[in-house]
Amino acid sequence: MVQDKPIAQQWFSTQKVNHGLYLITEPHYYWWNRANLWLIKGRDRDLLIDTGLGVSSLRHHIASLIDKPLLAIASHIHFDHAGGMHEFDHRAIHEAEAEALRTGDDYEALCSPEHEFVLEEHFDLLPYSGFTVEQYTLRGAEPTEILQEGDVLDLGDRAFEVLHLPGHSPGCIGLYDSQSQDLFSGDVIYDGDLLDELHCSHIPTYIESYERLKKMSIETVYPGHYQTFGKERYHQILTEYLEVKRKPGCPSALHDDFSTIRE
Ligand SMILES: [Zn+2]
Ligand SMILES: [Zn+2]
Repeated sequence: MVQDKPIAQQWFSTQKVNHGLYLITEPHYYWWNRANLWLIKGRDRDLLIDTGLGVSSLRHHIASLIDKPLLAIASHIHFDHAGGMHEFDHRAIHEAEAEALRTGDDYEALCSPEHEFVLEEHFDLLPYSGFTVEQYTLRGAEPTEILQEGDVLDLGDRAFEVLHLPGHSPGCIGLYDSQSQDLFSGDVIYDGDLLDELHCSHIPTYIESYERLKKMSIETVYPGHYQTFGKERYHQILTEYLEVKRKPGCPSALHDDFSTIRE
């Protein structure tokens, strides 16, 4: 169905967080699933963490901010993060979700019709004339770099370690700067409803990722959704999740049984 909403003059919004960091969002898309896209400016190269829905050109939007080689990274395959990956010449994703990016797998990206995640009412304005949610699809793109646990992305003046933190989806990563103790966390940890019951989620694995995060020194979290937060809130979110999910008879135990039966 063709929507009769107005077309957005400007699809993206950019905010300079500090000297080397920009936050880009899609303000006309549903707040609950609106992703934070992070542009990190390094000395020798830049990193773009997540690329949004892919319904408007992020590459054009950030062109004036880019003067060095740029690597676009998908924190995971979900459509709100990986939708614009195809636009960038250099693109990376964790190996567990590389195939889904290569083929443009709508099911793994959560944007096939049965997921009912891409809905007309989630767009306040249209990204372009003739846009419909029925035509929405994840555009496949061959990853030029496959990321694994422990890989280091060196920008010259700062470096990020790739942390494989599955649970929300199998290929979720975080990027950690051990100098500043900044964590770019994607959908692994944010200050809002955590999604751990998707078809691609696995609660026992999520718990393991959180046990690991609990031992890490973190100063600031730059999450995939909602607001940036500090050390205290970080530990609160981890502790609350672990307290609820570790209980006997909790969804994690049920989920475990269920996945055993299914396999
Ligand atoms: Zn996600
Ligand atoms: Zn997300």
